[in-house]
Amino acid sequence: MRTYDGKSVFSGIAIGKIRVYKKDVQQVKRTKAGDPESELARFASAKEEAARQLKSLYDKALKEVGEANAAIFEVHQMMLEDLDYNESVENIVRGQEVNVEYAVAATGDNFSRMFSAMDDDYMRERAADVKDISERLLAILNGRKASTAETEEPVIIAADDLAPSETVQLDKDMVLSFVTVHGSANSHTAILARMMEIPALVGAGLPLDDSVDGKLGIVDGASGKIYVEPDEDTLNKMRERQREEAEKKELLQRLKGRENVTLDGQKVMLYANIGNIKDLAMVMQNDAEGIGLFRSEFLYLEKEDYPTEEEQFQIYKQAAETMAGKRVIIRTLDIGADKQCGYFNMEHEENPALGYRAIRICLTRPEVFKAQLRALFRASVFGNIAIMYPMITSIEEIKRIKEIVGEVKAELDAHKMPYGEPEQGIMIETPAAALISDILAREVDFFSIGTNDLTQYTLAVDRQNPRLDEFYDAHHPAVLRMISMVVENAHRAGIWAGICGELGADQTLTREFLAMGVDELSVSPGSILPIRKIVLETNVGEYKAGK
Ligand code: PEP
Ligand code: MG
Repeated sequence: MRTYDGKSVFSGIAIGKIRVYKKDVQQVKRTKAGDPESELARFASAKEEAARQLKSLYDKALKEVGEANAAIFEVHQMMLEDLDYNESVENIVRGQEVNVEYAVAATGDNFSRMFSAMDDDYMRERAADVKDISERLLAILNGRKASTAETEEPVIIAADDLAPSETVQLDKDMVLSFVTVHGSANSHTAILARMMEIPALVGAGLPLDDSVDGKLGIVDGASGKIYVEPDEDTLNKMRERQREEAEKKELLQRLKGRENVTLDGQKVMLYANIGNIKDLAMVMQNDAEGIGLFRSEFLYLEKEDYPTEEEQFQIYKQAAETMAGKRVIIRTLDIGADKQCGYFNMEHEENPALGYRAIRICLTRPEVFKAQLRALFRASVFGNIAIMYPMITSIEEIKRIKEIVGEVKAELDAHKMPYGEPEQGIMIETPAAALISDILAREVDFFSIGTNDLTQYTLAVDRQNPRLDEFYDAHHPAVLRMISMVVENAHRAGIWAGICGELGADQTLTREFLAMGVDELSVSPGSILPIRKIVLETNVGEYKAGK
């Protein structure tokens, strides 16, 4: 048995096979190759191997998911033989006298860009396929295994690091746990792990090689340990703890259907954070009163190109309908910093967290912002949608948002498109917004405090930098004072204020937040019932008197 330490992101115990995750994107260098024929011979044998892999994937899929779903692997096999694709690789190898890896990567990029630009939906979808086969060929040429997306059983994923875009693309039913060597506990990947309610560690010092890949592992999210090839004794102890935790969860289920009200009658709204409509099932299972933060940028991160207004409309509508009249707060696009989306073609920045992100992108690229707003306003006819704007720092931004909203409504009117009047609120996640929250409160319907960024910007600590985790103190009095001040200013202006950052789920602070008068806590679905338990057991008056 070998034991490695990491930092815990979400507790719980996972037991299963470890799978070392290799990045889908292969690093390709352009090198001069003197002998094009031998490069092309390598290409031919890589193609043979790719065809073998695709055939076995097709057979497996046919058995498990039926012919219609397996067909994609047939399409990939045909693409391997596509004349234009093969000619392009050959021309680059011969014409430029370069290595075949470079020719495959360049062809994959060129063809997928060409497909993306086509009008026909079917052809546009082929862009991802052509990229996929190029990645497969590159993996074979580099002597690496193909991507992990094809795991047959749920596994513990061990990776160097995972970007949010990679995490959202993993098949959630197939992931027991995440363990990454790099990455910070406050990153969006960590937030996703909490949302998925799976034990996760970052900063784990384990080797990502055959000594780990395919071996049995145990992740203990509470102690931050990962055991590789555990001994009998450890395995039994962990199985026992896993059983106890399942029992505790079971007990919490009894709190379903109860109102979130303290012993002395103070109510608080307990909402859920989600990143995808697939998370709605968890929202319902955990009895959330609403959705307090739908991170809409994950819709953009999952895609190879801008999601259209229609695509977004269908998703927001589904969320609104599923929640059947309960509030669904959808945050407008918060891309940038760690959430990078290739097709936005953003320039390299020295300080991306202080850079071109969130509302700053929306206000300077109104065509992107308007498509999302049109989808949101239209979808609000089907339920109780509220819109929330991220990274606000000034009253001028709100004025500009209002102007754009006005234009969007006029456009919808002109096209006789029905739309609702969703509530519109803002995130308080910069010290500037907190300090002028008295003025901002007069302009909006609600506040939601983003403590993840508020902590980062207040303490000048990059939330992405694992070396700074010990300095990232969300309990810092400066952060807590700001929260209290924002809630007071909201109430003075007659609006409500909640918390949707990770601190909202910190059970050591639930009583304090109730004492501050926080109206809403929006947390990962798995935290709703444990917090409800605390709310039901708290007497706020007594807590304040005892302070
Ligand atoms: C926050 O900053 O607290 C927040 C909820 O937004 P995100 O974590 O997505 O930046
Ligand atoms: Mg934020």
